[in-house]
Amino acid sequence: MCGHHGVDTPCQDLTREALEAQERRYVAERYPDAQPPGANGPGADGADAADGTDAARSAGPGAGAGAVKGAEAGGGWTRAPAPVPPPAGLSRRRVLTVAGFGGGALLAGGASVLGLAACSGDDRAGAGGPTPRATVTSFPPASTVVLTGTAASRGQYLYLPFDVGPGVNRVQVAMAKADPTAKLGIGLFDHRGPAYGSPGFRGIYGDERSSFFVAADSASQSFLPGPIEPGRWTVIVPVFAVPAPTQVMVTVTLSGGPAPARAFAPGATVGMVLNKPGWYRGDLHCHTPESSDAWNQRTAHTPAAWANVCRELGLDFAAMTDHNVVSQNLFLARDAGSDVLLMPGEEMTNWSFGHATVSGIDVGDWLDFRQTPEGMPLPENGARIDRFLATARDMGAYVAAAHPSFPGLKWQFGAEMERPAGRPVGYELWTGSYGPDDEQSVQAWDGMLRKGWRVCANGGSDLHGVESGAKQGFKAGTPTTVVYADALETKAVIAALRAGRSFVTRRPDGAECYLTASRENQRAIVGGEVFGGAGDPVSVQVRVRRAGGMRATVITQAGTLSTTQVTSDDQTIEATVPIPPAGGYVRVEVRGSGHTYEGMPLAAEGDMECLTNPIWLTVGNPPANLRPTTAPPPDRPGPRRTSTS
Ligand SMILES: [Zn+2]
Ligand SMILES: [Zn+2]
Repeated sequence: MCGHHGVDTPCQDLTREALEAQERRYVAERYPDAQPPGANGPGADGADAADGTDAARSAGPGAGAGAVKGAEAGGGWTRAPAPVPPPAGLSRRRVLTVAGFGGGALLAGGASVLGLAACSGDDRAGAGGPTPRATVTSFPPASTVVLTGTAASRGQYLYLPFDVGPGVNRVQVAMAKADPTAKLGIGLFDHRGPAYGSPGFRGIYGDERSSFFVAADSASQSFLPGPIEPGRWTVIVPVFAVPAPTQVMVTVTLSGGPAPARAFAPGATVGMVLNKPGWYRGDLHCHTPESSDAWNQRTAHTPAAWANVCRELGLDFAAMTDHNVVSQNLFLARDAGSDVLLMPGEEMTNWSFGHATVSGIDVGDWLDFRQTPEGMPLPENGARIDRFLATARDMGAYVAAAHPSFPGLKWQFGAEMERPAGRPVGYELWTGSYGPDDEQSVQAWDGMLRKGWRVCANGGSDLHGVESGAKQGFKAGTPTTVVYADALETKAVIAALRAGRSFVTRRPDGAECYLTASRENQRAIVGGEVFGGAGDPVSVQVRVRRAGGMRATVITQAGTLSTTQVTSDDQTIEATVPIPPAGGYVRVEVRGSGHTYEGMPLAAEGDMECLTNPIWLTVGNPPANLRPTTAPPPDRPGPRRTSTS
């Protein structure tokens, strides 16, 4: 996310017109069947305020003054409130109880009795309310609710509920904050509620964006289209940083309109790309503009652009791991074409306690981010990390703690990792160009292996903006995770990742390392296991390619076994490792001489070129069903796409 490895491009404030035009383009391209916003009935404000950061620059002094105390104090709001229909009187106002945090929300009486149901359910058409229009229109006019709360502390989630009545087809949300330096996100749960893991999650932004809409047949970037069902909906405001408690004002505009001609349905996911076993290369940490911070960098790859990048670089697959949102997964088959595997994913981004990439979920699956580490109070609608991990596993996904040692974004569920249920199956020990935090992650991971924890290593580029990323050594496929999978297809790639049948290399055409171990009739590849008596010798073979001039180190639970200067681009190193009495492992690192970031001569990355997952060495008899495993290296080195085979 913004700030990782220092990537932090200042937000360039687009004009309201530019934002609107961008939103219109986005919706037209992505949801071509959607009805134009104008079809939403009289009074609908359509896309006008979507991203319209300041729909009410022109709002008159009365526009909110009666609705929200403090708004009229003026000057403090970074974004002027959207126009609010004048409240019809105190009897039309409802003070809602904001769950937790002691905030309060005001419901301003709207012009519509259809579009807005009073939360308390009583006298909503009561005395003092506006007289319904004499002319009966088919659809209710837009109505507006203003919700307020107080953002008080980092890690807090504000919940601002509002009620949606029948006939609403579009929900438009815009946030303003009293303190411009407060860092806040904003997201939405529909009538299914904001409980942990709710299927009613519709999307969320970090602090880069503050205005969006969802409709039955389309939605803003990062949000999910779908039915607008009546009931209690909830705006969520995650608080990233506030210098002092500050007021938040959220304007919700509900518009009616005809039901969409066609119900929204997501596209297909990518099916079988290549039905044959092989070593496949991929990037497991890819952001698209559906992540608000990547959007903010202006040059992030869309899923379709990621597919093109895969073609150019020789990558076979890429996981779409956007921050807490899943809108990037809606049309992956269309985006990928026939020859690239784009895997649906998400980056669970707990703004205070760590991130985890999730690869291989289904379209429509979403993973919650509201976890707190053990020893801390559980927030409302929160859960422990075990629940997140179990949910992801049940979805068939591969989960890896992301950039787990990066300052400010560390994985802080370390106590939980002592228990298998609190341990992600994967560990992204190499994120972007290899830096000091990655070196720390490799050491931490080696410590886990020594304890017998079967945590699988992987890498990922974490590329956000292409231009800003390039200055810091961020590139697609840097690093690349190479898996041995039964097929180029999501389930097969996930199975390979979960089994640790992989190595990580600095770039798509980087050094390759094929590790095998054998004893008697057992033969295992990386991620596998060899059994025998304590002290029994295991033959280890390491074939390294494209590593001339580098050093290959064989590492076991006891430390470095051997280091070999590699003198050719296709060399095999042999070693014998006894099975340790308490069990152990063998793995390989290939290191070179370090590299300099292009354009940043003073910043050097570490010398890691390639590292493998371990092969486990276990005292005991092999299971009866254990079969020798082989995984022949490709005929030619380098990406499959550039080879002739
Ligand atoms: Zn992250
Ligand atoms: Zn990321």
